[in-house]
Amino acid sequence: MKKAILHTCCGPCAGGVLKAFKEKFDEILLFFSNSNLNSREEYNKRLFEVKKLAKKEGIKLIEDDYNHSDWLRYIKKLNRENQPSQIETEAEGGERCRRCFEYRLARTAELAKKKGFSFSTTLTVSPYKNELVLNEEAKEVEAEGSLFIPLDKIGNKKEIWKESFKISRELDMYRQKYCGCEFSIKNTD
Ligand code: SF4
Repeated sequence: MKKAILHTCCGPCAGGVLKAFKEKFDEILLFFSNSNLNSREEYNKRLFEVKKLAKKEGIKLIEDDYNHSDWLRYIKKLNRENQPSQIETEAEGGERCRRCFEYRLARTAELAKKKGFSFSTTLTVSPYKNELVLNEEAKEVEAEGSLFIPLDKIGNKKEIWKESFKISRELDMYRQKYCGCEFSIKNTD
């Protein structure tokens, strides 16, 4: 029996990815692990949409602890080259994001290992995320007995993204305007 845990960043990304995984796996769990989110309010908004999707699809949702200060400590550690990190000021897509992926995917891999599932993430479907970096980080944290499934093994990313967009419209989901952490909030005035 093929079983997968899907790390779920938000409802608008998740719909198409879940649909594609359902065609290839017998059992799927959604795992909401997003301590990167800058406030409890934002966290609750995104969780609400994921719950809506899980209910509609009849899929079990597991919620991780929300611990933003632990996430902050993690991303502020020295970077891999052991240089002082400019993590708070750097542009989106750099070392901070790499660490952020690592933090969330490591927790997903750990849960997958405990349950004997494979794992993947809805983050990969976003056109704003670097798929290569995500896949590299997932491979880094892949624990013995929990295989990482890259999105390109499941289907065409662009098509899956389109489907996610369609589902998010149908379910009238909240669509956030920023990635998630306080460093990603842009002044839109
Ligand atoms: S911009 Fe997004 S991916 Fe990067 S650190 Fe912030 S929340 Fe994580």
